Amino acid sequence: MSERLKLANYIDGRLTPPQHDHWLDVFEPATGAHYADCPDSDGADIDTAVAAATRAFPHWSATPVAQRARFLNRIAELLEARLEEFAHAESRDSGKPVALARSLDIPRAVSNLRFFATAVTQFASEAHAMDGAINYTLRQPLGAVACISPWNLPLYLFTWKIAPALAAGNTVVAKPSEITPLTAWMFAQVCIDAGLPPGVLNIVHGSGAATGQRLVAHPGIKAISFTGSTRTGAAIAAAVAPRFVKASLEMGGKNPTLVFADWEANETNWATLVRSAFSNQGQICLCGSRILVERSIYAKFKAEFVEKVRALRVGDPRDPASDLGALVSQAHFDKVMGHIALAREEGGTILCGGDAVRVQGRCAGGWFVAPTVIEGLGPACRTNQEEIFGPVVTLIPFGNEDEVVALANATNYGLAASVWTTHLARAHRVAARLESGIVWVNCWLKRDLRTPFGGVKQSGIGREGGLDALRFFTEPKNVCINLE
Ligand code: NDP
Repeated sequence: MSERLKLANYIDGRLTPPQHDHWLDVFEPATGAHYADCPDSDGADIDTAVAAATRAFPHWSATPVAQRARFLNRIAELLEARLEEFAHAESRDSGKPVALARSLDIPRAVSNLRFFATAVTQFASEAHAMDGAINYTLRQPLGAVACISPWNLPLYLFTWKIAPALAAGNTVVAKPSEITPLTAWMFAQVCIDAGLPPGVLNIVHGSGAATGQRLVAHPGIKAISFTGSTRTGAAIAAAVAPRFVKASLEMGGKNPTLVFADWEANETNWATLVRSAFSNQGQICLCGSRILVERSIYAKFKAEFVEKVRALRVGDPRDPASDLGALVSQAHFDKVMGHIALAREEGGTILCGGDAVRVQGRCAGGWFVAPTVIEGLGPACRTNQEEIFGPVVTLIPFGNEDEVVALANATNYGLAASVWTTHLARAHRVAARLESGIVWVNCWLKRDLRTPFGGVKQSGIGREGGLDALRFFTEPKNVCINLE
């Protein structure tokens, strides 16, 4: 049996164990094996990390922008050089196929760092000339900020937060998910190798309920950037409201995929549509989980879709032939299976999947679920209202444009939608009417990092991406100069 990995916090430039020697078990989802121990940090670790970040702030915020950008680029370069190693680690920790981590997660983490290294050099602010005076807006970094990220895209979302925070001149205390801490731990070594000054980035591992909560409540934290579930987002919003701490909350989704009869059903579009439902085992906040199909093509669409979903291979994430790997944890596996049982109770018909998958050999103990397609459920039932965050989608027929817009908007969420049609004017009309932060037309997950990213309703408050992220991580100050 190989020895268990012992992870560490990264505080004040050093890898350090938790002060009270408490640890959490980390499991490999594909095998169910306990393979690493992660610090279960408490208030003492958070205090030390916030103190280190606070001490580092004056120097880091005064470091010339070009030099901060050079640090981020250096980290990106070192990360890219270890891409294969990171891809394997991300796959092992989260259960996703190595191929996905290699093509999506780690390259995107590299891009996040490079993007914000460049963006901050282009960041500018406004000036307002008036009679007898001129105003200009200073945008200044906030201080020590908290970045809290989830398990579904571990390093991808971790870097998506820390890169703009650091680029803008803040220092950071980051808390990755306790479920997938591995690549954040490895990333700390990359930062050390890149010579990032001590205290500029601190990574404190531990549970959300203890470590995360202590971080959010810490009086030294000037802003919080959070991605995770709506439930946790609501708890954070409530915790910080009395202190008026700035918070950006990216939360859950129940995204609609709208397929009109005139959509171009070619091979590329089919592949994208299937990917939009099941990529990363459906554990991407942007995955479409309610597929709304125009009634005139419903039967044909259903038959083809189910055939393509049946052809997806669930298996060892290390196997290049696997389209889907394992769900991230036993608890999440149980939750997803519970939702499938609920869909049955609600009267849904399972068209394919609906069961756990037993993978032979090394992965016999893993948490695998077959990609599942359900029909026959109304828009108001729990299956069509609650985020499942697994390889489970429903099919719902619609009659016309008004009806599909109403169906698409009929949840508390509003993160992303995709619309499939060749009717140009309809694409624009529908995009404008959807209650959604992001609308893709005839595509999915095409990302330009300059665009505003985030949701409406219970999917989020605030926007990430591009200049929005740099604005979030800075405070505008108006300076008025009298010219008379
Ligand atoms: P959680 O809300 O459970 O956790 C997110 C992060 O918050 C984790 O680091 C978690 O720690 C931490 N946390 C949990 N409780 C607290 C607390 N009380 N105070 C401070 N931090 C806390 O989400 P999941 O990790 O389960 O992620 C899945 C969710 O994330 C889905 O709902 C998905 O839609 C959403 N998501 C949204 C995205 C978006 O851009 N809108 C993108 C990706 C995912 P720990 O894990 O250690 O408990």
